[in-house]
Amino acid sequence: MKILVTGGAGFIGSHLVDRLLKMGHEVTSVDNLSTGNMDFHKEIHGNPNFRFIQGTVFEKELIKKLVDECDVIFHLAAVLGVKNTVENPLHVIQGNIEGTQVVLEQAYIQKKKVVFSSTSEIYGKNLELPYREDSSRVLGPTTTDRWCYATAKALDEHLCFAYARKGLPVSIVRYFNIYGPRAIATQYGGVIPRFIVSALKNEPITVYGTGEQTRCFTYKDDAVDGTILCMDMKHNNQVFNIGTEHQISITQLAELIKDLTNSQSPIIYIPYEEAYGLGYEDSPMRVPDLTKARQVLGYSPSIKIEDGLKKTINWYRKNYKFT
Ligand code: UDP
Repeated sequence: MKILVTGGAGFIGSHLVDRLLKMGHEVTSVDNLSTGNMDFHKEIHGNPNFRFIQGTVFEKELIKKLVDECDVIFHLAAVLGVKNTVENPLHVIQGNIEGTQVVLEQAYIQKKKVVFSSTSEIYGKNLELPYREDSSRVLGPTTTDRWCYATAKALDEHLCFAYARKGLPVSIVRYFNIYGPRAIATQYGGVIPRFIVSALKNEPITVYGTGEQTRCFTYKDDAVDGTILCMDMKHNNQVFNIGTEHQISITQLAELIKDLTNSQSPIIYIPYEEAYGLGYEDSPMRVPDLTKARQVLGYSPSIKIEDGLKKTINWYRKNYKFT
């Protein structure tokens, strides 16, 4: 098949591109390289089934042409990360809503299947766990920028369903804390890359809050598996949690990474305000209910956190420029 991946040079996008090529598909990656990186396409450079286009999903004519040339679209291009949400909410809102609008509109006109990547963030601070796909979303007030990312992605999901009603074949995946090689540490978010970099430099590993908050970290291969399963037309008009059910606290994560890297780093704790500024509300826990993904998609995540972390640490040892 001919497949278009928006955000194809990003962390998850580039792994998805690699897998689709291995499966024998012809793949076009479109990315504006704002957070994506051409190095992530290094290993597939020269593959006759691969093509890279530098561009944004706002460019209607470009997207129209690329949609015309493909059979299926994986729409992963997004403005994400806590850093952007805190520092540039306008960019987060416009980037996620306008870009998705362009992609969905073109796919709708041309009746092409879309798999849209959403996020477990959309469940917000709902304390009823685990999250089922039909769980309520519990978000804070609009006066707190922190919620704009979850809101924008939720609106994108509404757009998907609105187009689905008019005949667009679309499936949605909600990712739960995906990590692995190529996940990049930023000033605020991406706890696993941040902890790995600190541990390898023997610098303090900084836990925000009490460290009792938990996440279900999901290795990139499991995320790619779930995403590809959604390509099937029989999953149209459906949303799926893609993650693992294995919870780990942020303190346990810090200790595990310290252990696996044989690091001398101390583990230190700072309040959320110091990390994110005032008004940031963290999710205390985020756990997916995978019943639907298992039963309907046949999804079965298999990578243990220790194994995924070892592979990620190895990648950082080889690729990260420690200055
Ligand atoms: N976190 C931390 N130290 C860091 C970065 C993040 O303790 O250097 C915490 C963060 O407050 C959250 C968890 O790790 O509780 C996961 O953060 P991440 O940004 O990876 O993803 P989130 O689940 O918040 O979207």
